[in-house]
Amino acid sequence: MPEAPADAERRRAVAPVICYPPEALPDPGLGRVGALTRVGGVRVPPRDARAIRVARGQVLRIRSVEGPQVGDLNLFAADDLSERFYSGKTRALHGSHVSTGDRLWSGFPHLRPMATVVHDSLDWYGTDAFGGRVHDVIGTRCDPYTARLLQGRDYHRTCHSNLTRALSRATGLPLAEAESHVHDVLNVFMCTGFDAEGRYFMKASPVRPGDHLDLLAEIDLLAVLSACPGGDCGAEHSSDAAHCHPLEMEVLAVDGEPAPEPARSRYDRGHGA
Ligand SMILES: [Zn+2]
Repeated sequence: MPEAPADAERRRAVAPVICYPPEALPDPGLGRVGALTRVGGVRVPPRDARAIRVARGQVLRIRSVEGPQVGDLNLFAADDLSERFYSGKTRALHGSHVSTGDRLWSGFPHLRPMATVVHDSLDWYGTDAFGGRVHDVIGTRCDPYTARLLQGRDYHRTCHSNLTRALSRATGLPLAEAESHVHDVLNVFMCTGFDAEGRYFMKASPVRPGDHLDLLAEIDLLAVLSACPGGDCGAEHSSDAAHCHPLEMEVLAVDGEPAPEPARSRYDRGHGA
């Protein structure tokens, strides 16, 4: 290891600055959500995924049923699969885990809120003694390629493959084309953090049946959710070892007129050329 310079401590002592001050973001408008009425829904079987359409102004409720279970969520603009959830920028804007008031943003060149977290029954969890929090935008999704790399075998029930099959069924696209649209997820109900060495950890989710995360659709959405083969993600994923449960996706109508659709980014896309 190279020797530390004489001023190492002074360099380490420089105070950090928040990359994207949250107060610069538009107000999430949490007051918009009044009475909710269920208008549709689908049950996501364990180790599988389902898709559902959610109109602008409706709430997508992801609900725990039967037992602790983590879900991996992909979001698309209902009429344009190229506009999809951007987990990395959402993390940069709101932090490593999302909760009430945070938005789920779409990628470039759109960069607009696709959905807003309007209720989270696990808000009470906060940050535990290990630095763990719930609903992360850190993890990518379990997938058969990493499973092959680390375990040397093929496993077909990872979230990546579950999302691929469900998106293919929902859109009629061939499997290979659907796969190219699957992206890094919101890890719903997953409890994760980084240890002192910076290693990504997971621990058994505190979610219990009845807990739910409510996402207000800011644009018409196609939502695809996988019930992760890791179950509560307390031990391992990418295998049939964990005890898994279904998840429920419910679509709820909201009283009153929906807010106007958020504008896409106004950047002129000149890129200085
Ligand atoms: Zn998974």
